[in-house]
Order: sequence, then structure tokens, then C-alpha cells
Amino acid sequence: MVEKILKKINWLGHDGFRIDAGKVIYFDPYQISSTVPADIIFVSHEHFDHCSVEDIKKIQKKDTVIITNEASAENLGGDVRIVKPGDRLKFDGIEVEVQVEVVASYNINKDFHPKASGMLGFIVTVDGVRIYHAGDTDLIPEMKNIKADIALLPVSGTYVMTAEEAVEAALTIKPVVVIPMHFGCIVGSEKDAKHFAEKLSGKVKVSILSKEQT
Ligand SMILES: [Zn+2]
Repeated sequence: MVEKILKKINWLGHDGFRIDAGKVIYFDPYQISSTVPADIIFVSHEHFDHCSVEDIKKIQKKDTVIITNEASAENLGGDVRIVKPGDRLKFDGIEVEVQVEVVASYNINKDFHPKASGMLGFIVTVDGVRIYHAGDTDLIPEMKNIKADIALLPVSGTYVMTAEEAVEAALTIKPVVVIPMHFGCIVGSEKDAKHFAEKLSGKVKVSILSKEQT
């Protein structure tokens, strides 16, 4: 099932993803060309490259649910649900049930994403497969308790974990597959993703996705 869901995950660049799994789920759409309407949009925090009103407008329908933190919600309209780490939500659909666990996401060796700001990571369960979107985070102690089949982890350094730190995060979480993100836009390059993959070789499967072209 993990492989089946993996095929439905499209990388939109930076921290943006679209999962086409019965419901159309987006994470942090930014500079997207995809206009597939969203059922659920997860926005990890209020920074412009995660909470992009312009991009959200491209995919938001009347009944699209946006799940985010308080600071991001101030800039958004529609069905916006403010959540915080520890919250759990469930969406029943005809085709698929989506479960959500909200987790913390913050810096420990820099100040861009302070813990007190309530920025978010998400664990979304689709068809029994747990997908973890880490948001803009460092290697934080909470990761010891994160159970995920597929982990989307930042690898660029500067504002988030370095590739080396992300390797530690992957070894801590031990997902079936890890997908590097937060490179190729603003900061970081594919080199970081490749370095990350090399270091995890033989330990955790790494899938470097190509940015979706539409
Ligand atoms: Zn940020």
C-alpha cells in the first residue's frame, strides 16, 4: 500500500505536494502550476513560501478545507480550521477517509521558526498509510514519537535541517520511504537531496521526486 500511495504523491517544488488519493490533498502550495481543485490544503505556517494566498486561490473551491495555524489563518478565507500540535481530525469521504495528527515543527539551532510560534507539521493517514509532512523544522525531540510510512523532510539547511541533520531525522523516524523537500527554490539544491540519499543508502529508502510539470 505504501508503494501505491507513493505513486500518488506529486512534488510541486519547495515544500509543496499534491496527493491524489480519493481526496485531493495539498501541502504548502507555492509557485504552483497545478490547478487540480483541492479538497484539503495543509498550510504548515505563515511564511510566504508556505502560506501563499495567491497559490491557495488557484486551487481553493467553496468547500475546500484549509488546516493551518492561527497566524496563517489571518490571511486566509473560506473553511479555515485552526489547529495546534496534539490535535487530531478526521474527514470521512465516500472514497477515502483521511485522518490527521498535528505535530510541532520548529528550529532548535536558529531563530526563524521559534517553538512558541505554533508552526506545524502534519501526519496524514490515507488508505492506512501515514504520511508525515515535517514543515520548516530542525531535528526536534518530538520526532522520536512520530510514526510514519512516508516522511517528507526538509534538507536544505539555513532555515531548516541540513541534509546531515535530516539523515538523523530519517534514522529516528524510520519510515518506509523518505522524500526530501525544501530545496531547489529559495535555498538548497538537488545536491542536498542527493547527499541526503547517499547517507541513507542501505538504511532508509529515499525517493527524490521530480517536480511536477503541468
Ligand atoms: Zn518558514
